[in-house]
Amino acid sequence: MKRRDLLKSALSFSVGLVGMSAIKPLYASDDLMVRAEPMYDVTPTKVTDRSYYILAKDAGPSPENHAFFNNPGFIVTSEGVIVVDTGSSVQIGEMVLRQIKKITDKPVVKVINTHYHGDHFLGNHAFVEAYPDVEIYAHPTCIANIKKDNGAFWYNFMQRNSDNAISGTIVTLPTKTFVGGETFTLGDTTIKIHQFGKAHTESDLIVQVVEDKLAYIGDTAMRRVANMADGSFAGTIHTMKEVKALGCDHYLLGHGPHDDAAICNDMQTFCEIIYGDAAKYYDEGLSDFEMKPKILANPFMKEVASNWPGYDSTIGNYIGIAAAEVESNLF
Ligand SMILES: [Zn+2]
Repeated sequence: MKRRDLLKSALSFSVGLVGMSAIKPLYASDDLMVRAEPMYDVTPTKVTDRSYYILAKDAGPSPENHAFFNNPGFIVTSEGVIVVDTGSSVQIGEMVLRQIKKITDKPVVKVINTHYHGDHFLGNHAFVEAYPDVEIYAHPTCIANIKKDNGAFWYNFMQRNSDNAISGTIVTLPTKTFVGGETFTLGDTTIKIHQFGKAHTESDLIVQVVEDKLAYIGDTAMRRVANMADGSFAGTIHTMKEVKALGCDHYLLGHGPHDDAAICNDMQTFCEIIYGDAAKYYDEGLSDFEMKPKILANPFMKEVASNWPGYDSTIGNYIGIAAAEVESNLF
């Protein structure tokens, strides 16, 4: 597809977004766009012979990091590359492509978006531009959420928090669906897709690289206190049990360094304390404000979770969400 046609087809979705947002003046015509400057290179971390990710060191978007705060991943098979999450912008997607090209001359043939938060899908634009036939996969609910309001919301969120470092990015929808339970092979590599119910969002995809005993688990587990507004504590506890049952040696995260099953244990413990205690104190008639000091007194919270980014600013919000989830499950 020519660039002009690509932009036209992409804009047929994003025209509403463009029309009502501050980026409108950037479009002099449909094939002349002002792009923010390229993203600087970040060297990939090689976990196994074929599985890599690019570690973002910051916990959130800023002008300095060009809104780069999640870990795009990629799997180099004998028949092409599979990308897992594409970063917050076309510029970051292009940076990921540059790193892939340093490692292999094989094309990117599939992209998988683990969920609908913008740091995981806004880079799709770069892959469609470089490989017009690339297949982009996500859960149907993820695609529906991007279409509905998450495309516009996350575009504006990234622009606002990065001093417009993602200008020129077009919200580019996944074109294919995985619902979990799929297995496919690409050359020498077997991929299994899993969906274990609502965890970080209602549509998280887990990407298992069977031969590598490795899984990309998106944002279902992280050692930070971030975005639980779309998630479920009970569902995250369930998902962590299922993810551990995959028996992988390596778990690669949307945020923070990769780990073994210890990351799943920490996330499970964190959610069990917050959700279990919220249920107990709810039964005793306590408000979420009254619960907070009691939950924070737990040794795991004091000694482990309190070191995670976002703890001080967001833990109160987490407890409020847990109390609301306890209440909603009573009726
Ligand atoms: Zn997320």
